[in-house]
Amino acid sequence: MTITPEREAELLASVPTGLLINGEWRDASDGGTFDVHDPATGKVLATLASATSDDAMAALDAADAAQASWARTAPRERGEILRRAFDLIQERAEDFALLMTLEMGKPLAEARGEVTYGSEFLRWFSEEAVRDYGRYLTTPEGKNKILVQRKPVGPCLLITPWNFPLAMATRKVGPAVAAGCTMVLKPAKLTPLTSQLFAATMMEAGLPAGVLNVTSSKSASGISGPIMQDPRLRKVSFTGSTPVGKQLLKDAADNVLRTSMELGGNAPFLVFADADLDKAVEGAMAAKMRNMGEACTAANRFLVEKSVAADFTAKFAQAMGDLKLGRGTEDSSTVGPLIDGGARDDVHALVTAAIEAGAEAVTGGAPREGDGYFYQPTVLSNVPNDAEILRSEIFGPVAPVTTFETEEEAIQLANASEYGLASYLYTADYNRMFRVSEQLEFGMVGFNAGVISNAAAPFGGVKQSGLGREGGSEGIAEYTTAQYIGIADPYAV
Ligand code: NAD
Repeated sequence: MTITPEREAELLASVPTGLLINGEWRDASDGGTFDVHDPATGKVLATLASATSDDAMAALDAADAAQASWARTAPRERGEILRRAFDLIQERAEDFALLMTLEMGKPLAEARGEVTYGSEFLRWFSEEAVRDYGRYLTTPEGKNKILVQRKPVGPCLLITPWNFPLAMATRKVGPAVAAGCTMVLKPAKLTPLTSQLFAATMMEAGLPAGVLNVTSSKSASGISGPIMQDPRLRKVSFTGSTPVGKQLLKDAADNVLRTSMELGGNAPFLVFADADLDKAVEGAMAAKMRNMGEACTAANRFLVEKSVAADFTAKFAQAMGDLKLGRGTEDSSTVGPLIDGGARDDVHALVTAAIEAGAEAVTGGAPREGDGYFYQPTVLSNVPNDAEILRSEIFGPVAPVTTFETEEEAIQLANASEYGLASYLYTADYNRMFRVSEQLEFGMVGFNAGVISNAAAPFGGVKQSGLGREGGSEGIAEYTTAQYIGIADPYAV
């Protein structure tokens, strides 16, 4: 289906441009605004109200005022609001997909995939809302009783990145709503439009005023700073880069906030000689090229057993070279632009340094000339083990390939990173799968699978990739706190 300029304009006109505070869309207190751009053309898509510190505090006031009654709402009611929001997103799937393509750049087919993935968090947590069990037991001494109930943490600050505009919001808002928390959502200023439309959808699904407040802003710390200093806030959940996450952890210490941190990654992709190489290349394409490589789970280092490295690299480079760069709205496009000029230049600097250090570009290796921030899908071979590109998060369509000779060496190279989010393992040997997975210092392992994100699974990292989990039954636990009631021996009265 061809996307016409009229269709784009009509969709953009339907997105609220204000701040959502206490159920109402309003302008920023100082009248300030910021522009959102299309990374494929550099053109302005929309102009949004830019929240100030005063607006941030008004949003927290609303969240705090709504907290007590929202916590008492029947879990079934909270679940049904989420379920209605899930249904509404299915009805408007094409709008959400196109909006993400416009503001973030990913091809429409991928954006549709994110609508499915992102909305599943609403369906999953609509089901989890009614399954947040407590427990009742007798103490080991056999007299007193232990009653444990789960309670909502309280008002939360949710900060999301630009790369998955819908899923990063639903992965936080879904469990917070299910658990009975109120919240202030601060989307990334590069891609806030999807969150604006999502928030409008949550309100249409019946979310009471004040439960979800949205403060898009050009000043991230101008929002997080004052809110995190206010003792009424009880939790911060952040997805973004490790340096910003570390700063927020320090800020969170002042009021001893609960924190969930989904930070950067440097995923190894291990290919053993016994693997099905065609399947491994298929998995490599998915693990590398989802979101043009702009994913925390993106395979960042390809570690291939020496005896199959040349074969794997040739097939992989062929598949990468066949991809078609283009604006995400074009049917033929399989690779969109990177998010901005800085991101493209950072990717190119890593590639250039690797080539200077001895790597060889088997395919790609340069930005595309012309409009937009496009970078050619690139495969690098013979990358030295100490190259910067193997240590940094590339966040672009570039795949450095290195080799190993033994299982021990593969594990040692894979773990040689301060990050520990996703990892991938291709082998036909199930014993090896268990043995290697157990030794990988990563929160997630894809076994013969290049995409592992799922609403029902606990997503998250170890080491400097973060704290806490999103999705699964772990996801809602991040928004609840256990309260223990000690009950005196009922026979002693
Ligand atoms: P970023 O850290 O620059 O920004 C993330 C969010 O934090 C944005 O909303 C931004 O406005 C806000 N922010 C920036 N500086 C801030 C400050 N000083 N105080 C408060 N808020 C601030 O990250 P990004 O560029 O938007 O996203 C890319 C990064 O996110 C990558 O490192 C990627 O790995 C990571 N990421 C992690 C996951 C995960 O689940 N682990 C998922 C997606 C992205």
